[in-house]
Amino acid sequence: MNLILLKENDFTSPGRVTIRGRRFTHIQTVHRAAVGDQLTAGLINNKMGTATVTHLTPSSIEMDVTLDQDPPPALDLTLVMALPRPKMLKRILQTVTSLGVKRIYLVNTWRVEKGFWSSPVLEQESLEEHITLGLEQAKDTIMPQVFLRRLFTPFVKEELETLSRDTLKLVAHPKGGRVCPCHPGQPITLAMGPEGGFIDREVETFERLGFENVSLGERILRLETAVPVLISRLFT
Ligand code: SAM
Repeated sequence: MNLILLKENDFTSPGRVTIRGRRFTHIQTVHRAAVGDQLTAGLINNKMGTATVTHLTPSSIEMDVTLDQDPPPALDLTLVMALPRPKMLKRILQTVTSLGVKRIYLVNTWRVEKGFWSSPVLEQESLEEHITLGLEQAKDTIMPQVFLRRLFTPFVKEELETLSRDTLKLVAHPKGGRVCPCHPGQPITLAMGPEGGFIDREVETFERLGFENVSLGERILRLETAVPVLISRLFT
């Protein structure tokens, strides 16, 4: 936890917070914070800055906070991802959040296992838990938005064209296509397939909307590996 992510209800008065639970335990056992120590803190969807420890009890910590810095810039990327298996989704959410992705569409495709849609990981509280870990890791405060789209065709017909307008549209597909460009320097919409990959008809649908089929070479990577590799290639 490189940043203590604060919620409005942590504030006991303006500029003063009391923290309990998971964050308290982490501050106590990992940071080993003592009165007078300064930590990095930030308010969800707001500014970040410093927190100075003023009081410790066996179950809580009180800190004075000064939040006067902007969080780091977000990536201008919309990630459209076939819903991965729940365990992998947890890791991917943390990873892409720490990389600065702020718009994530989880969509159904032909090869997504239907049972994944009833996973508790998709509940709002759980999504926020994994996103929070990514923000705390990367020192960021802006929560990404996660949109669940259980039907591929209506999503593509009614939303994808609009949300990808004026962006570079890419669909990551190991078969064919050109090698993924490096840092094209423009807003991007990136579509990623499920474990079994996109079926041809889905790739053609993306192509009809102006998506270009791009590859990272002949090695087939797990989705959780392909996503950060592509993001790093496209934005650094
Ligand atoms: N057997 C599937 C196929 O051939 O499409 C593999 C799917 S892979 C496990 C999951 C997703 O990661 C793919 O749909 C694609 O979006 C992305 N991916 C994995 N390796 C890739 C590569 N070498 N080039 C581009 N995308 C890749």
